[in-house]
Amino acid sequence: MARMAETQSLFGDPDPPPPPPAEPAALYADLVFDRPLEVPYTYSVPASLAGDVAVGKRIIAPLGAKPDRGWCVAVRTEAPDRPCKPIIRVLDPEPLVDGHLLDLTRWMSRYYLCGWGQVLQAVVPAGVRRKAEGPPPRASWLVPTPTDDLPAEPPKLTPRQSEVLEHLRMSPAGMETSALLAAMGCSSSVVDGIVTRGFARKVVRPEAAESPSSPMARAHPLTPEQSEVLSRLEPSLTGDDFAPFLLLGVTGSGKTEVYMSAIEKVVARGRQALVLVPEISLTPQTEARFAERFTSVAVLHSHLSESERQNRWRKVAAGRAQVVIGARSAVFAPAPNLGLIVVDEEHEPSFKQESTPRYHGRDVAVMRASLLRIPAILGSATPSLESWFNAARGVYTRLDLTRRVEDRPLPRVEVLDMRHPPARVPPGRALSDPLVHALKHALRAGGQAILFLNRRGYSPFVVCPGCGETATCRFCDLSLTFHRERNILMCHHCGFHQPPSDECPACRKTTVRYQGLGTEKVHEELQRHLPGAVIRRMDSDTMGKPGSHAQTLEAFRNRLVQVLLGTQMVAKGLDFPGVTLVGVIQADAALHMPDFRASERTFQLLTQVAGRCGRGESPGRVIVQTLNPEHDAVALAARHDFLAFSRGEMEQREMLGYPPFQRMIRIIIRARDEKAADDYASRFAGACRLAHESAEPKRPIKLLGPAVAPVARLNDYHRRHLLILSPDSRHLHSVARAALASCRPDGGAEIAVDVDPGNML
Ligand code: ADP
Ligand code: ZN
Repeated sequence: MARMAETQSLFGDPDPPPPPPAEPAALYADLVFDRPLEVPYTYSVPASLAGDVAVGKRIIAPLGAKPDRGWCVAVRTEAPDRPCKPIIRVLDPEPLVDGHLLDLTRWMSRYYLCGWGQVLQAVVPAGVRRKAEGPPPRASWLVPTPTDDLPAEPPKLTPRQSEVLEHLRMSPAGMETSALLAAMGCSSSVVDGIVTRGFARKVVRPEAAESPSSPMARAHPLTPEQSEVLSRLEPSLTGDDFAPFLLLGVTGSGKTEVYMSAIEKVVARGRQALVLVPEISLTPQTEARFAERFTSVAVLHSHLSESERQNRWRKVAAGRAQVVIGARSAVFAPAPNLGLIVVDEEHEPSFKQESTPRYHGRDVAVMRASLLRIPAILGSATPSLESWFNAARGVYTRLDLTRRVEDRPLPRVEVLDMRHPPARVPPGRALSDPLVHALKHALRAGGQAILFLNRRGYSPFVVCPGCGETATCRFCDLSLTFHRERNILMCHHCGFHQPPSDECPACRKTTVRYQGLGTEKVHEELQRHLPGAVIRRMDSDTMGKPGSHAQTLEAFRNRLVQVLLGTQMVAKGLDFPGVTLVGVIQADAALHMPDFRASERTFQLLTQVAGRCGRGESPGRVIVQTLNPEHDAVALAARHDFLAFSRGEMEQREMLGYPPFQRMIRIIIRARDEKAADDYASRFAGACRLAHESAEPKRPIKLLGPAVAPVARLNDYHRRHLLILSPDSRHLHSVARAALASCRPDGGAEIAVDVDPGNML
C-alpha cells in the first residue's frame, strides 16, 4: 500500500479512491403513467436491468394488480422510505424524450392539472413510441422530369395523373413519395403511371439527405417596417435569453417574411427554428415558401402516416431539419438545438387541445422558449386578448407592421344591413342583390371570389311550423342539420344521423320546414346566379379525403375555379392574388354564442376573411352581410381597427371580471344519469369553497355555478359546469388542485378540468 501511495505522488494528484468492488449501489426509478396521477411512483431496479434504465425511456412495471407502461422521469440511488416493487422490463433502447422535454411536460402536468404520464403520452407520437428502434430509413423520392427533357409529343396522362404531376412539379427538386401520396390523397398506382410514362423518376435517398439544394430563393428586400421589426428582434436572435415578442401585423403585411428572415439568423448560428401554424394553414403553399428559403424543412401535419411521422420526428431529433413547421403538437418537436419558436396566427382557437392534456400550444411554446432561454415570436393581425394583455403589461415586447407590402391598400369593407332594403332577402335566401351584383362584376372583370359561411350542410334547422318542435339529436342537446346530398339529418357533434321525414316527429301533423343556411344550400343558390362559373365548396363534407384541401386550393390558385365557398377553411391564411371579392354571408353567426369570447372570435374571423382580399395588383372589395351592423365586432373589423376593438373589449372584460384580467379554470362534469351529474357538481363546488376558505393568505376567487352547461347533453351524457376565476393564478390552481384531491367523482360521474378554457359550450 505504501508503495502505491508513493507512485501516485510521483504523478501528481492521487486518483480518487476506487469504487467499492462488491455490491453495486441499488438503483431506483421514478415512473409516471398515462393516468391522472399527481406524483411519480418509485420502483426498484433489478441488477440485471440497471444498465438499461434511463430517464426518458418507457418501462413496464406493476401498477395496482397489473403491469403497466410508465415513463421513467428520474433514476436515483437513495432508497425510498417505503418498500417498493421492482420494474419488469425496459422498453426503449434509447430515451424518447430528453431532460428539457421532461421539464416542459412536468410544468404542463402541474399547470394543466393532469398526469405527467398523460402529458408524455400525448407529446410523443404513437409511431415514434411503437418504432423506437429500427434501421435508418431510406425514403423513396420522386423527381419530376424537366419539361425541356420530355419528348416533343409526351405520352398522355389521365386527368388524375396530370393533377398529381402538377403538384409534384411545384417541387422541381423532388418530393418524398409518401408526402406526395399524402398531399394528393392518391394511390401509388397513380404515381407509377407517371413514372412509367417518363414524367418523373424514382430515386432512393437516405432519410438523412436534406432536400437536395436548389438555389435558395432570395428574400424580398424588406420594407422599412419589416426591417425595423427585424432590427428589434436581432439582439435576441443572436443572444442567449428568453425573449417573447408579439408581432401585430395587418393581413398581408409580410409577417411570414419577417419570420423567415429571423429564422435565417438562428440557422446561421447552427440552430433550428420551430414554426407553429394552425392546421388549416399547413398548405403546400406554406411549405413551399419555407422550402424555397431553407435547405431542410420538416413539416409535421395530421395527415402523415405513422411511419412518415416517425421518420420526420427522427430527422428533427437528429438536428437535420433547420426549420420544423407544424400544428399544435409540433410544439414538442425534439429539435436538439432550438434557437427560435414562432407561433403564427397565435389567436387561433385550434392551438388549444380539447382533450387531456388540455394545453394551449401557444402558451406551451412560450414556456418552452423560456426554459430554453430563446426568443419566441407570436404573430397575428388580430392577437388574442390574452397576448395583447401580456404585451400591454410589458411581459411581451410588441412589434408592429401597420401596412401591407408594396403599399397595397387594405380592402374596402362594405357592411350590408340585412334588415333593410336593398340588402334584405326573402326567407330562405342567402345572397343579397348587392352581393350578387358584386360577384357578377368581379367575375366579369376576371377576378376570383371567396365566400364565407361558417355552417356546413343544407339547413341547420328542421322545424315544425305546427308545434314549433326542432329536430334534435337523440344523444346531444343540439339541432340536427339537414344534408341534402347525403339525404340525412345529422348531428355535427356526435355524427348521429337519421333519414329526413316530411312529417313532424313530435306532432305528426304537419310538414316540417328546413330553416337557416348551410354551405350546401348557398352553393345551389350561387349556381343559379352564376351559370357557367366554376364554384367549389370547401367544408369538412367535401374535404374529407386527405389531400382534397390542397387540391382545391391548387385549382383555385390556377384559376380553374372562380368562386370558393366554404367554412373556416377559406377564412384563414390563404394568399391568392386573384381574389378581388370576399363575401361574408352571415357575419353574426357566432356573435350570440354563450361565450365571453363571442365578440373577439367574430372580430378575428371577419378581419381574417377580409384579409384574403386584394393581395394582388387589383384592390379588393369585401362585402359583409349582417343583422348587427353597429356591433363593434362587425363595424371595427370593417375598418380593420384592432386597436379600437381591443380597447373596448378589454374594458368589458375587466368590468365583467373575465380573462385576461382574471384567470379561469372550467370544470366540466358529466354523467349518464342526470342526478349523478348534479350531485357531483355541487359536491365539487363545495370542495372548491372549502379549499378557498382554508387557504392562507386569502386571495380573491369567484365561483360561477355549478350550472347546466350551455350544451346540456352531449354523446348521451348530461353536462354541468363550473367556472373558477381569480386574478391570482397560483391561488386558482391550488384551490382546484385541493378540490380535485378531496372530491373524487362517483356514481358514474366524470370530470374534465380545463385550465384557460377556449371552449365555453
Ligand atoms: P401576412 O403573413 O402578414 O399576411 P405574408 O407574409 O403572407 O403576409 O405576405 C403577403 C405577401 O407579400 C406574400 O405574397 C409575400 O411574398 C409578399 N411580401 C412579403 N414581404 C414582402 C416584401 N418585403 N416585398 C415584396 N413582397 C413581399
Ligand atoms: Zn349528437
